[in-house]
Amino acid sequence: MALSFVVQRHRARRLHYDFRLELGGVLVSWAVPKGPTLDAKVRRGAYHVEDHALDHAGFEGRIPAGRYGGGDVIVWDNGTWEPHDTDDPAAALEAGELHFDLYGVKLRGRFVLVRTRGDDWLLVHKRDEHAVDGWDPEEHPKSVLTGRTNDEV
Ligand code: MN
Repeated sequence: MALSFVVQRHRARRLHYDFRLELGGVLVSWAVPKGPTLDAKVRRGAYHVEDHALDHAGFEGRIPAGRYGGGDVIVWDNGTWEPHDTDDPAAALEAGELHFDLYGVKLRGRFVLVRTRGDDWLLVHKRDEHAVDGWDPEEHPKSVLTGRTNDEV
C-alpha cells in the first residue's frame, strides 16, 4: 500500500515548509525553514514537530491570527513515498536515519532524514537523476491542489 506525503508552505510568524510523511496512521512532521530542495549539495535543517492527523494533508487556507500557527497554508507538494532499505521505517526514524523515495509533483527521488541532536534533523536529497543544482522551492510557489500561492488563499 502506498503511503502519502504532503509538504505545506506555511506563512506563520516565520515562513516554513511543513514536511509530513504518512506513517502508522498519522503524518509524522518536520518544519523545514528553508523548504525541501532537489539540490543534492544542500542540507536543509528540519525540526521534528508533533504528528498531525491524516486529514490535515488536504488543508489549505488561513489560520486566524492569534491561533497557533496563525497565517496561511498551501499544499505545496504531495504524492506518495516509499522507505528505502528498510521494511520498518518507524524503527529507522527511531534510530535517527531514514532513506526514502518521494513520488511527488515537485519533489522526486531519493531523500534522507538524519537526526543530528534532539529534535534537530537534516533533510538531504541524494544525487540521483532527479537532483537539480540550485533548485529553490521559493521559485515553485503554487499549490499543487489549487494553483494558488499563499497570497491568494
Ligand atoms: Mn507549520
